[in-house]
Amino acid sequence: MSFKALKLIKPLLRAVADNNYDAPTPVQEMVIPLVLEKKDLLISAQTGTGKTAAFALPILQQLFDRQDAVKKGKKIKALVVSPTRELAVQIGENFKAYSSYTNLRTSVIFGGTSKEPQIDILKKGIDILVATPGRLLDLHKQDVLNLDYIETLVLDEADLMLDMGFIDDVKKIERLCPDNKQLLLCSATMPYKVEQLANVILKNPERIEISPTSSAAKNVHQVLYYVPKRNKIELCLHLLRNTIKGKTIIFRRTKFGVDKLEKTLLKNNYKVSSLHGDKTQSERQNAFNEFKNNKTTILIATDVAARGIDIDDLDAVLNFDLPNIPETYVHRIGRTGRAGKSGNSYSLCSADEKAYVVSIQKLMLLQIDVIEDHPYPLDPKAKPEVHKKKSGSKYKKGRKSEASKKKKKRWY
Ligand code: AMP
Repeated sequence: MSFKALKLIKPLLRAVADNNYDAPTPVQEMVIPLVLEKKDLLISAQTGTGKTAAFALPILQQLFDRQDAVKKGKKIKALVVSPTRELAVQIGENFKAYSSYTNLRTSVIFGGTSKEPQIDILKKGIDILVATPGRLLDLHKQDVLNLDYIETLVLDEADLMLDMGFIDDVKKIERLCPDNKQLLLCSATMPYKVEQLANVILKNPERIEISPTSSAAKNVHQVLYYVPKRNKIELCLHLLRNTIKGKTIIFRRTKFGVDKLEKTLLKNNYKVSSLHGDKTQSERQNAFNEFKNNKTTILIATDVAARGIDIDDLDAVLNFDLPNIPETYVHRIGRTGRAGKSGNSYSLCSADEKAYVVSIQKLMLLQIDVIEDHPYPLDPKAKPEVHKKKSGSKYKKGRKSEASKKKKKRWY
């Protein structure tokens, strides 16, 4: 199928051609006609499937006829809510790229940076707003943005939005938009919480499901190394020296793990950036830009910090730690092998992570190739390594104080 067959208008077809998209991806084939029919949709698709264009192109098409503002200036007619700043910026860039032959204006607002420049842009008038929930509500409260004219609301990465505790914000934003708006809810996974939200806010939605497992597995060559936990760093260095080529994301489960590995790789003269939730907005943006612009070739990140990040020419994913949620593995490896290209995924599995491999393989309905020929093999009988507690600890097991429980930060 071609984009033309999807009845896209010429200015959008030109932009699509400029982006070198030859044909629509499956999610685009399914979603574009339904958005143009003004349907509410529940879209289950991960990043990398082309879902941003799937909602952005028909939204732009719907607004095209009214792209020239009347005297009072432009009103925000489409709103995309996204959980992370990086993702919001990327969605905004996509809208701008697809609307380059129109007069439609897109702007992005997110927290962690000064409000004034964002307010100035809003005052000038825009058609499409991409926003993170907190800053959106904040600016709405200050009366600098009006959601009364929203025709289409997109809630992107809804599962992550709920995981990050944005449920009330999301519901509030939905209520602030007019009742008769079109609503598109996108989510990489469909846990019960997302289904519940969908039941409450969507009207007779059509469901679109793009199987992440099949699409991720198709273009990615996946291999697995069993290795003692204490040798993971050595094996990682060995693989970077001998096996892994090109632009690579290394996933770690914790922020501490990210920082530790970054130090080791820097000491070994690798060009590295890192991303996690404790970094400031400008540090995160810098890390992302360095990696995107090839100043660094390795990005180390936690799952949440890296979610949704779109790097075109990623060659490899290294799972330094295996995720305990199998869908997360699918998201991770889906970062490579995008849009028809091939990619490689390398996973390091220690004795305590073996159960994760079982559930990942069950979800993906495949057996990941095990590489046995490497310098740090794991004894198949090895038991998980446990950190021995120092004797005489003043903390008794299971007796955390209320204050320490409150202090506990999110791991990402
Ligand atoms: P997304 O799933 O929206 O994050 O998109 C993933 C990547 O696929 C982005 O780099 C897009 O620019 C690219 N892309 C989107 N649609 C197409 C298409 N029809 N053909 C080729 N690449 C595409």
